[in-house]
Amino acid sequence: MSRYTGPVCRLCRAEGAKLFLKGDRCYTEKCSLNRRNSKPGQHGAKRGKITEYGLRLREKQKLRRFYGLHEVQFSTLFVQATKMAGQTGHNFLQLLERRLDNVVYRLGFGKSRAEARQLVCHGHFTVNGRKLDIPSARLKVGDVVAVAEGSRDIDIIKENIEAKKAVPAWLEFNANAMSGTVASNPLREQIDAPVDEQLVVEFYARN
Ligand code: SF4
Repeated sequence: MSRYTGPVCRLCRAEGAKLFLKGDRCYTEKCSLNRRNSKPGQHGAKRGKITEYGLRLREKQKLRRFYGLHEVQFSTLFVQATKMAGQTGHNFLQLLERRLDNVVYRLGFGKSRAEARQLVCHGHFTVNGRKLDIPSARLKVGDVVAVAEGSRDIDIIKENIEAKKAVPAWLEFNANAMSGTVASNPLREQIDAPVDEQLVVEFYARN
């Protein structure tokens, strides 16, 4: 399964929303969406009328790209969300947030989810004291994610911690231990995904 390796700002422009795929640049005036809020491509200036189906499709794509998942991984997670008690849309967002790569990103160890995923794959993190290099691993309340002993001097991790943005309230960050704990399941208002998750639920309901 190939991963999208093209220019990521195109994805934001295609969705007309900031997906924060490029790290620090996303928070500056250099963000491509600030400078050119049109769809990529020759006819991008025209954002045509969108159908009801198209609206739901775009919302689904926006969320999938925000978390950087393939369709198969994404739809598998959605099916799992439908089997949980409670609201499917919120369950789905919680499952996405509790992935190891996302938690590493939210704790500020990676500048973007893509960078966090790469750091995880390279074995730079432990969960509850054991090395874990699976980005999709699902964390639960009480789990402790830490930079592995042999990775504490890696410049990129140290720089990211220094430049870290605020950590969401459902996570607890411990700078001295270079670790973070999942303190609770994220509430909807603690998840900054720029989507209406109900439209995503409706998209899968009709497919
Ligand atoms: Fe590019 Fe980040 Fe702006 Fe998206 S939010 S257009 S990835 S700089």
